[in-house]
Order: sequence, then structure tokens, then C-alpha cells
Amino acid sequence: MTKVHNFSAGPSILPQEVFQEASEAVKDFNGLGLSLLEISHRSKDFVAVMDEACALVKEIYNLGDDYEVLFLQGGASLGFLTSAYNMMREHKKGGYIVTGAWAKKAAKEAKWLGGMHEVASSADTNFNYIPKGYDVPSDIDFLHYTSNNTIFGTQYHEVPKTDAALVCDMSSDIFCRPLDAKQFDLIYAGAQKNMGPAGTTLYIVKKDAIGKSSIDIPTMLDLKTHADKESMFNTPPVFAVYVSMLVLRWIKKTGLQTIGQNNAAKANALYSEVDRNSLFKGTAAVEDRSIMNGCFVLNDGVDEALNQQFLDMCKDANISGIKGHRSVGGFRASMYNALPLESVEALVDVMKTFESKFG
Ligand SMILES: *Cc1c(COP(=O)(O)O)cnc(C)c1O
Repeated sequence: MTKVHNFSAGPSILPQEVFQEASEAVKDFNGLGLSLLEISHRSKDFVAVMDEACALVKEIYNLGDDYEVLFLQGGASLGFLTSAYNMMREHKKGGYIVTGAWAKKAAKEAKWLGGMHEVASSADTNFNYIPKGYDVPSDIDFLHYTSNNTIFGTQYHEVPKTDAALVCDMSSDIFCRPLDAKQFDLIYAGAQKNMGPAGTTLYIVKKDAIGKSSIDIPTMLDLKTHADKESMFNTPPVFAVYVSMLVLRWIKKTGLQTIGQNNAAKANALYSEVDRNSLFKGTAAVEDRSIMNGCFVLNDGVDEALNQQFLDMCKDANISGIKGHRSVGGFRASMYNALPLESVEALVDVMKTFESKFG
């Protein structure tokens, strides 16, 4: 099989060794003569998987027993509502920084609960920057933000300062570099961008933030339900949790320091070429550029017909998933943890060839 350079925005590239191990577990798990997919989630073999996955998350982020780790379902999209439900306190209001499509959807769920205050937004310029210099009101119960804006290619490079409880959707940049996770009351992330396959959502929540909501919560949306049963209140998505556990082992082995350096090197290689190449320009404010999702478009005055030419050239070079999201257009190179630098170099080569042909 020819190697495909996988720049998919999500579900996305995972470490290749994980696929090997995961496919073996589907055929015969732990030498049981049974597939991972046909044993009880309450069997000791699967309970060990869940326990290890949770322990790895804590280890990688250096978290102690004051944090609970959960693997749930519903995607980050249900996390929008779950987080709002669980974090409401006396003010029954969350503060939201609206930095993109996902952040907007998160705010919408809080609005539905009757408690959304928009703290800041970058909607005025199609979300191409991270707002700075805004006031956070004191009558909010929590501040919610989206650490990486998958669609628009912006990313927080510093955790926002606030006295309020901090809640973050980290779906597309969790484990992308070292992070002091102790600053957060609640982190949630759909697995399928940087941590595993689609089908499970990671919640990292401070224990003393569980069961404190000022509003009644339906059973399945109450983090207490799941914390009390160690993510086994109902049947967990066993395959997604297992593969996430394998990826977490790889993250631990590689180390967040190294992962962060690799991601910085990839982003630097891409953006250097975007800035150098006369046919392209980046769409995000330079200081807010994401190291996960690099968005770029044809430069001003370049014939729009060249969009398809570039996509065709990428395809010929076995580069996959480079078409930009419809709300930005152009191109998006998603460079999640498992993407090797050589894939970015292959893309940069195509960008150079493209310029020499059409520039
Ligand atoms: C993909 C994505 C989501 C949506 O995740 P689902 O698991 O599909 O619900 C939410 N937030 C961010 C930042 C994302 O990248």
C-alpha cells in the first residue's frame, strides 16, 4: 500500500502501531479466545482497560486524586450541554468566549438552559483571531472556552485568566503539548481528533465540582452518575475506550514535551511555507495560529480556478484531507499528534511545485 499523508480534521490520523494492536484485540483479546467486542464490559479484562485509560490521563497531565476521569458518549456536542448543566451554581450563568463554530454551539446549549453570557467573540472577522482584553463579569459560575478552533485554525497559546471556574472544550488539541491541567475545573474532548477513534468523549473534572449544580440534571447528563460508577453506569463504548487507551500509552511513551516539540516543528514548517509562497496566505492572526489545524487560502489576486489544481496536485502526491472547511474555504492541514513531520514536508513540496508551475 502506498503511504497516504493523512491531514484529515477528524476523525483523524492515529499512531500506526495502534491499528495493529487494536485489530488483534478485535480478533482475540488478551488470549481469551474472544474478541474485545464480545466480552462483558464488567469483565476483569475490560475493567482493566478502563482503569488504565483513566490512570494514563491522570499520569500524562500530572493530576492527583482530586480529579475524576470519565470516558462517556455523546461526543463533544453533548459535552456542550453536559458541561453547562454540571457547572451551573448560584448565578445560573456561564461566561462564553465565542471563538468559532464549536464555541458558538457550546454557548447555544447554555442559552437553552437560560444562563449564557457572551464574554467575548471574534465573529466580527469570521473567527480569525482569539479575543483579548475583555472583561469577565463576576456574576458568572464558570468561564467556558474552546482551546483550539478546529475549523478556523486559531488556538489559545495561553490559558485565559479568570477567577471563575474554568471549563474547556479541548477536543482538537488535548495532549498536543505540556499543559497545567490543574487550572481547570472541567475539560472535555471528543476522542476522534487527537486521542482515539470516534465514539467516546473524555471528561476530566475536579471532584469537588461534581454534584454541585444549582439545577436538576437528567441522570445521563449528570457527571455524578458516571463518576459514582467509574464510567460504567451503562455500557461504555468499549472499542473506542480501548483504542484511546492504546493511544494514551503512546502519548505517555512519547511524552508531552516531545509531542509538543514535534507539533511546533510541523506547524513551523507549514506556516513558513504559507508565508513564503506567493500563491498562498494564512487566514488566522499570526499570533493565534493553531499548531493543530493550519488554514490557508489562495493569495489575493490568484485565479480561483487554481484551488482545484492544488487539490489535484495534493491528491497525486498521496496527500489526503487538505480541503478547507466550507466556512473558511481554501485549505486546511490538520497536523494532529500522530502526523509525522515528513507528511508536512510532502505538503510543502507540493506547495513549492505549485508555485513554480503557476506563480
Ligand atoms: C469536532 C469538535 C467538536 C464536535 O465533536 P463531536 O464529538 O462530533 O460532537 C466539538 N468541539 C471541537 C473543538 C471540535 O473540534
